[in-house]
Amino acid sequence: MLTKSSAELVRQRNSVLVLTALRRHGPLAHTEISDFTKLSSATVSAITADLEKAEVIEKSEQQAASGRGRPRVLFRQRRDCGYLIVVVISSDAVQYSLVDYAGKLIDRFHEGRSHDPAGAGLFAAAIRSGLERIIERSRLARDDVLAISISSKGIVDPVDPILVWSPIFGGEQIDFGAILRSEWQAKIILGNETLLVAAALGLREEKERGPSFRALAALSLGHSIGLGVVHQTSQGEYDITAPNFGHMLHVANGGLCRCGTRGCIEAYAGFYAILRAAFEVPPDTIPAKFVPVAELDKIAAQARQGNRMSSFAFRQAGLALGNGLSRLVSLHERMPIAVTGPGTRYYDLLRQGIEEGLGQSSAVRMNGMPELRVVADEQNLVFEGHLNRALSVIDQDIVTSGMPLPA
Ligand SMILES: [Zn+2]
Repeated sequence: MLTKSSAELVRQRNSVLVLTALRRHGPLAHTEISDFTKLSSATVSAITADLEKAEVIEKSEQQAASGRGRPRVLFRQRRDCGYLIVVVISSDAVQYSLVDYAGKLIDRFHEGRSHDPAGAGLFAAAIRSGLERIIERSRLARDDVLAISISSKGIVDPVDPILVWSPIFGGEQIDFGAILRSEWQAKIILGNETLLVAAALGLREEKERGPSFRALAALSLGHSIGLGVVHQTSQGEYDITAPNFGHMLHVANGGLCRCGTRGCIEAYAGFYAILRAAFEVPPDTIPAKFVPVAELDKIAAQARQGNRMSSFAFRQAGLALGNGLSRLVSLHERMPIAVTGPGTRYYDLLRQGIEEGLGQSSAVRMNGMPELRVVADEQNLVFEGHLNRALSVIDQDIVTSGMPLPA
């Protein structure tokens, strides 16, 4: 039967509501599920019974804190309903993590990446063998993995898991679906790294502040510059985007960027740009592929001791970031900006330039300076963003593909 009955669609939608509430709030009692989902008690009973029978969720008893009275019965996702592999691609390593359906980390390792001219073919082989290694270590069957969630810096195709442009591979596209589909049944998801950071921060804010949370931007500083924006739509939902901020124009005919264009924000604020400015290398010099953090640390130490060119390099980077952010708040609205990534260790040197760059715009002069805050744990945020997104995709898939029936 190709068309699903409307009753079936309602049941699916309600099942997703229940699973989402359990994801967001952790194990919940019957009445709490009803409160969070606004579903009737009878509907919650029917849905939880179905999900329990299909071995998607399970019940556990929690003794009241006083030790007296009847224990509370809590529902939660079953750990063994399925598995997720998270792959985080960064400039110098690839991190693989295995996570169960309840969101618990089971295994994790890193594999280094060489900085030689990175061939997409070699990289594809490395990803295949990394996934092979994590599944062998776990002794799980390949089909137990329901999703593989991959992230990278760069531009991601809006529909398919294709990396369109990245600082590592340039314009050499990487189609993860094509690379993995012959070996894996799992759904392949690809996300921009700073979009995942923004999504994780947005969810934290929403949990804390409820519907009064309107918008937030995450700015990632490092070898490249990333931006993610979460904002509330007129329907009260949250829209998350990762505009190509690092490669937005900062100065016409300006410094040469890694992307091949001139004058991008990154050509002033990326690690290579700070290095270039500090050593007074002409701005049309082809950028270094990778700059060790230790090199930047040396420049920062000199800047903190008052060295003129080193201070100028950070100030120039701050100004480029501030000018870029001023355009963001002019186009959107004033919103808090969470600064994250390895570049936050130089925030003391960047801050004045960022504020000055922001303050030059009419939007900031009229509406005031947006709140700037440093959120240092970028790696945790990336992982949190992966889990939020991939586990909710798995929840949807389990419910809409017809839940597995108990044996
Ligand atoms: Zn560029």
